[in-house]
Amino acid sequence: MVKLLEARDLVLDYPGGVRALDSLSVDLAPGEIHAILGPNGSGKSSLLEALLGLHVLTSGECRILGKDPHKMGSRERARQICLVLQGLRPPEGMRVADLVLLGRHAHLPWIGGPGKEDRRIMRESLDLVDLSGLEDRRMGQLSGGERQRALLARALAQESPIILLDEPTSSLDPGHKLTLLAAMRRLVENEGRSLLWVTHDLNLASLYSDRLSLLHEGRCHAEGKPREVLIPEVLHRTYGGEFLFGSHWAAPVREERPWALPWLLD
Ligand code: ADP
Ligand code: MG
Repeated sequence: MVKLLEARDLVLDYPGGVRALDSLSVDLAPGEIHAILGPNGSGKSSLLEALLGLHVLTSGECRILGKDPHKMGSRERARQICLVLQGLRPPEGMRVADLVLLGRHAHLPWIGGPGKEDRRIMRESLDLVDLSGLEDRRMGQLSGGERQRALLARALAQESPIILLDEPTSSLDPGHKLTLLAAMRRLVENEGRSLLWVTHDLNLASLYSDRLSLLHEGRCHAEGKPREVLIPEVLHRTYGGEFLFGSHWAAPVREERPWALPWLLD
């Protein structure tokens, strides 16, 4: 099968001798939702950045639709892949509409600003994250969760087939978590886009992802379908705690999926 995204044997060393990625291989197939899990500092954000070509690797290679990201032009790359990093803080005075229109940058002609179609896509993207009507607000006038959704709308407006999101639901309430993932699943099923996302929410990952990869100290501890990864030994080995397990029939995929909750024994 053609891989949209492929990383083979990545080794990434930061200055100061921190090895963030250690022989890590990950891929993303067309029409797939793949979640990256793992404790703080396990290399999840570094992996997404490396996939986009934002780091000089010690060894290993990344491919976006078979191409080396370092050899792609920024417009070409932005048409194929988008990334929402953690903790981005756009300028407080920027209008929500203008932030989302930044996502159209790679589609604009060399001369001239966004046109009617770009504005339609901007409004559609805001609708997908339930921010319709907030176009004229300034970023400094949004709540943390609204700001996170505005940044997601900017990425969606890019209309790239590959979507990378780093903890996209960390500031969202349960309702918006579900509507965001449901919207992502629709994009994947109806438009053939693919999502690689980082999350600490094991249950949301299980419900909405086709595949999970569990990182630990820059390596992949476990990879597979949710029921193959969310098992007691694997979670205990990775997170060190105890977990309560169950299963539910999940509406989004219409099959039984596991859930796991951290549990204090004493
Ligand atoms: P995660 O996203 O899984 O929490 P990161 O990929 O952000 O983890 O970080 C992986 C490791 O690399 C951690 O040990 C972190 O402290 C370290 N690290 C991250 N960014 C840098 C940096 N710019 N310089 C040095 N070390 C870094
Ligand atoms: Mg991170």
